[in-house]
Amino acid sequence: MTDSFERASRIQFSGQEYDLETLAVRAGQHRSDEGEHSDAIFPTSSFVFSTAREAAARFGGEEDGNIYSRFTNPTVRAFEKRIAALEGGERAVATASGMAAILSLGLALMKTGDHVVCSRSVFGSTVALFTRYLSRAGIETTFVDPTNLNAWSAAIRPETKMFFLETPSNPLAELTDISAVAEIAHGAGALLVVDNCFLTPALQRPLALGADIIMHSATKYLDGQGRCIGGVLVGRDAEMEAIFGFIRTGGACLSPFNAWVFLKGLETLPLRMQAHSERALSLAKWLQTQKGINKVYYSGLEDHPQHALACRQQSAFGGVLSFEVEGDKDAAWRFIDATEIISITGNLGDVKSTITHPATTTHGRMTPGERADAGIKDNLIRLSVGLESVDDLKADLLKGLAAV
Ligand SMILES: *Cc1c(COP(=O)(O)O)cnc(C)c1O
Repeated sequence: MTDSFERASRIQFSGQEYDLETLAVRAGQHRSDEGEHSDAIFPTSSFVFSTAREAAARFGGEEDGNIYSRFTNPTVRAFEKRIAALEGGERAVATASGMAAILSLGLALMKTGDHVVCSRSVFGSTVALFTRYLSRAGIETTFVDPTNLNAWSAAIRPETKMFFLETPSNPLAELTDISAVAEIAHGAGALLVVDNCFLTPALQRPLALGADIIMHSATKYLDGQGRCIGGVLVGRDAEMEAIFGFIRTGGACLSPFNAWVFLKGLETLPLRMQAHSERALSLAKWLQTQKGINKVYYSGLEDHPQHALACRQQSAFGGVLSFEVEGDKDAAWRFIDATEIISITGNLGDVKSTITHPATTTHGRMTPGERADAGIKDNLIRLSVGLESVDDLKADLLKGLAAV
């Protein structure tokens, strides 16, 4: 399936060019004097100084070096360097969760009176963070149809400081043209932030398309095995320094253990993302032919309205798809309950396939009217395709279909 895409371009790192797969395994490791081959983990809250003078110089900022793990930690730094290399950014700052990353964007880069233009098809907690909490700091948000470029332009105000989007969106796989929206944002003097959770740098590199900042919930594919909560932001030195200042003071830092898990997750990220994508494409095509399935949402399908854009800005289509079953909420619940291998859980981006009913879980806090506007019907099911065999997943989905 990769034949239809251009070979991903080489990535600049430390003055040389490498392929993404190489950086995923190699970038950012800092070997200690022990000569360990695998990345070391440094579970320490503070660091010692050889003299009182050295301590004063570190605290005063005259000398670089570790002080306290809320500020810097070698394992966290290795993860930051590796993800920055993969996304092609100057610097990354790791955070306690994906939501902590978005909170830091709000509090480190904006102030009272500023305005955000946000895709209306973003993660539910992202909407809640902007509307319930950042609004208390006097930061207002306008939500727009992410596929409509005129809507992005029309929402701009003199106070607009940031555009925020996810592509493809969850759960309906709506795409946003990253280069086009970057141009609109920059015309207004605003930054474009892309939540790159669904595709990861293995399949989509928004900074190269003009975005300014990448946000990740590392909890999803960067870990890839459903173990830890974490987040990270990647971008230019200037904005990352401001965010680092907020994290070291506000305390929403990543733990060294979680950073180590993500560091190991990144090593297999390119391989996993290809395997997730191949399985999801094959299941999406197969689901389209099944009786009892009304509609399948996946950007890899040729009849997806933005398939051409997907082929242009992605290098595969990712592991998440959704579909509508014939019937109502009860039919969708019967389908979900009848599957046996696939886990019923809200998480995604795991080697284990997961199945979710968005209308009553991830999108359950929206009003029925908001859900109708967003196109999330009661018979919609989201599937995050893991790494089980396609044949076993089909057999499991057939059990679901039989119950509809
Ligand atoms: C999960 C998720 C988040 C939030 O990340 P946490 O690590 O759960 O805080 C943000 N955006 C997307 C697209 C997600 O899937």
